[in-house]
Amino acid sequence: MAFTLYNTLGRELQAFRPIVPGKAGFYGCGPTVYTYAHIGNLRAYVMHDVLARSLRRAGFDVTHVMNITDVGHLSGDNDEGEDKMVKSAGERGQPVLEIARFYTDAFFRDTSRMNILRPTVVCRATEHIDDMIALIRRMEEKGFTYEAGGNLYFDTARFPSYGEMALLRLENQKAGARVEVDQNKRNARDFVLWFTKSKFENQALVWDSPWGRGYPGWHIECSAMSIKYLGEQFDIHAGGIDHISVHHTNETAQSEAATGKSPWVRYWLHNEFLVLDKEKMSKSAGTFLTLQNLVDAGFDPLDYRYFLLGGHYRSQLQFSWESLEGAKNARRSLAERVKNLAGRAGKRAEADCTDRPASGAGAYLEAFNAALENDLSTPRALAELWGLLRDTGVEPGEALRAVLDMDGVLALNLKEACSPPAGTEDEQTIREIERLIGERNAAKKAKDFGTADSIRDGLKNKGVILEDGPSGTHWRRA
Ligand code: AMP
Ligand code: ZN
Repeated sequence: MAFTLYNTLGRELQAFRPIVPGKAGFYGCGPTVYTYAHIGNLRAYVMHDVLARSLRRAGFDVTHVMNITDVGHLSGDNDEGEDKMVKSAGERGQPVLEIARFYTDAFFRDTSRMNILRPTVVCRATEHIDDMIALIRRMEEKGFTYEAGGNLYFDTARFPSYGEMALLRLENQKAGARVEVDQNKRNARDFVLWFTKSKFENQALVWDSPWGRGYPGWHIECSAMSIKYLGEQFDIHAGGIDHISVHHTNETAQSEAATGKSPWVRYWLHNEFLVLDKEKMSKSAGTFLTLQNLVDAGFDPLDYRYFLLGGHYRSQLQFSWESLEGAKNARRSLAERVKNLAGRAGKRAEADCTDRPASGAGAYLEAFNAALENDLSTPRALAELWGLLRDTGVEPGEALRAVLDMDGVLALNLKEACSPPAGTEDEQTIREIERLIGERNAAKKAKDFGTADSIRDGLKNKGVILEDGPSGTHWRRA
């Protein structure tokens, strides 16, 4: 089966055919480092991680590029609002670059705690100003820009296919359509390529340019850096759905205008949002949770990874502490099962606790791979892992090797559960516990709470704790 991805361009599932067979060039929009990443942002990066790992698993040689935005991103995506970096630096009384370093480090600490692999290339906007200027000059030479009020703008009217991906229609884009309109713009959708005169007299970072001393607009960094590291046309670009209508639309217009080549990107992938109580989680509005908040509440970063893998990246995911608790319990049961498997696999499996793929567990591995290759269906992939762990017909050594192989993408540290293999539950005990859980659930359904409670207490006396959550009842040793 071909590796299939849902392409926002065309809005359909498409077989992944890279420009160079066997290679996959992939750019994912990175963080704006003016504060901590919130758990919604981390959803985007887990998705990028799953994409990179799944492509590698399918045999592609992946170059994953991620930018770090440390200049030019205003609180509104359409050149309105305050400069996020300048605002944060002002509030903290520290230089912009110091703020950027601090939050970049914090970002990579969070991503590594969630087993998100570091991209092949990580590039900072402030270190690529020359590349941005060179790209803007190419647009200027071809007549796609105009100067007004001291700033240089991209003229969307000169680019007929503007907004195609976002299904925008130019005639609907009248000035005044948005709350705050830059009077210099000929069209509300035009956007700044280079600021010289801005509303930020306190702009800390400025560079010389053919248009005067100033700083770049936000969108140009992604065009300049992706082209630098992946070429003028490349395979995959990913980011959150909030970026379709402005940021990615503007990136496309700039890149195609400058190079004259289309399509700039073959496959556009957009993750849906993580929401809190049906509200968009927003960094700039200050309504967000960080990974550290989850850790402080007693969760492991991998509980959150497990929670995210349980939803498909194109579906909105509602965060709640109860569902995170459910993920925590499920991950614990998973580790318990893997530990048991390692115990049963015995000495041979201990020696074989490697990433070598199994053969007897082939059907599960095949289904697992097919799930990932079908637009990164992590919920289905997780279901295959559980199916394999519950299948007592698969030889334990083979099952264990397959589980560890699957963990190459899931990255839930399942190998850690293999050791120490001593003291693991035997299969009969597990089955007995699960039988009792089933009985208890039936009793609860029949509103026979006395029986339900006595089953729970009986298990507790044997050192088995039951935890009820949205994904069912899980158990752990006290
Ligand atoms: P930012 O640091 O704001 O530039 O955002 C980094 C990435 O996180 C972008 O790809 C956004 O589209 C994505 N993102 C922002 N908020 C959320 C959310 N609540 N859920 C999922 N992704 C998000
Ligand atoms: Zn971007």
